[in-house]
Amino acid sequence: MALEWLEGIVTKIENETPNTKKFYFEIPSLEKFDFIPGQFVTLDLPIHEQRNKRWRSYSISSSPNGTNTFELVIVHMEGGLGTTYMFNELAVGSKVMLRGPQGVFVLPKSFENDIYFICTGTGIAPFRSMINYIHSNKIAHKNIHLIFGCRKLEDGLYINELKELEAKEAGFHFHPCYSRETAAPAGSHTGYVHPVYEALLKDGKETAHIYLCGWKAMIDDARKKLADLGLDKKQVHFESFG
Ligand SMILES: Cc1cc2nc3c(=O)[nH]c(=O)nc-3n(C[C@H](O)[C@H](O)[C@H](O)COP(=O)(O)OP(=O)(O)OC[C@H]3O[C@@H](n4cnc5c(N)ncnc54)[C@H](O)[C@@H]3O)c2cc1C
Repeated sequence: MALEWLEGIVTKIENETPNTKKFYFEIPSLEKFDFIPGQFVTLDLPIHEQRNKRWRSYSISSSPNGTNTFELVIVHMEGGLGTTYMFNELAVGSKVMLRGPQGVFVLPKSFENDIYFICTGTGIAPFRSMINYIHSNKIAHKNIHLIFGCRKLEDGLYINELKELEAKEAGFHFHPCYSRETAAPAGSHTGYVHPVYEALLKDGKETAHIYLCGWKAMIDDARKKLADLGLDKKQVHFESFG
């Protein structure tokens, strides 16, 4: 069944990093916006005459909270039609047509083995939703490693929140990686995400499940490195932003 388009209203916009904003939405026609952590919504933005050229998808970064609200975290693409519109034109009270939830890149069904969430930039959105859901619903799990990559310290997303969660949630390990820093704070890394999971996977790689999210280049690299490590394709799940 085709999902219906609903009117969403922007309730808050926050600057997260120099080129990333958090957009908060409410869907007034719904009492509750139900979704599985990891799913995305599609926005219909007035950026093109042709309908399907106006659609842009965004993973939901908040977790279901029983209300009709949700949060997105969006990076401004230089010259990108959709994000330039959103960054310049959207304000509190703006109306946006949207549909969702969509997608099958969702919360793991089993938590019997170690889980790796690997992402760069706003690819953290579905994992932030999942880990907050796991924490607030007290879901039992083995090790969950969230390996997040960005360039500079100032590009970090949800860093303080996830560090705090790491201290509260036994078995949850947060590994921020900064590719353009020469020194990183305790518990963080310099360089790319890849060496971090390659080192951790020395133990338990036969049963671990890996979830990748972000732009195609990182996902392609990671899939190749995981195959080289001997992981089966069935252990690797991914959502590519493009
Ligand atoms: C399921 C899904 C979930 C998504 N979730 C998010 C999200 O949570 N947050 C978010 O910021 N974006 C997300 N995206 C990406 C988003 O849908 C748009 O593609 C993005 O915002 C660019 O839109 P735009 O209209 O500004 O750019 P466009 O006008 O569409 O042009 C951007 C073009 O450049 C390419 N491009 C731009 N930057 C890069 C890059 N760094 N690496 C590789 N290619 C690039 C794109 O593939 C595209 O062809 C998601 C995409 C999908 C499919």
